[in-house]
Amino acid sequence: MRCPICEKGILKKGKIKEYMHGVYLGEFPAEICSSCRESFMDSKTTKRVEEAAKVKGIWGLSAVTKITKTGNSLAVRIPKKIADYLKWKEGESAFIHPQDQSLVIEARP
Ligand SMILES: [Zn+2]
Repeated sequence: MRCPICEKGILKKGKIKEYMHGVYLGEFPAEICSSCRESFMDSKTTKRVEEAAKVKGIWGLSAVTKITKTGNSLAVRIPKKIADYLKWKEGESAFIHPQDQSLVIEARP
């Protein structure tokens, strides 16, 4: 089958390493494009990836949050489930820096 993304490559059966939020979930079967390397999983495999993410406790950790104003600065609310996963507590220090057009927040040891 021809790749629906680049329309140049051919899809071949293979395995891909799946990560979510930087956590390795395992290898899963997929159809991989010989040209652009785009991969496609069937719905059954997608469900298995979801289950693996749930087992690792990282399923549902993405969230939309509001940027609010505090004094002259802006504040980003970190949802409880993400704070709990990271074991971040109120009053701890964090190191922040921009990366491309994103903000990276790292716990300071
Ligand atoms: Zn392709």
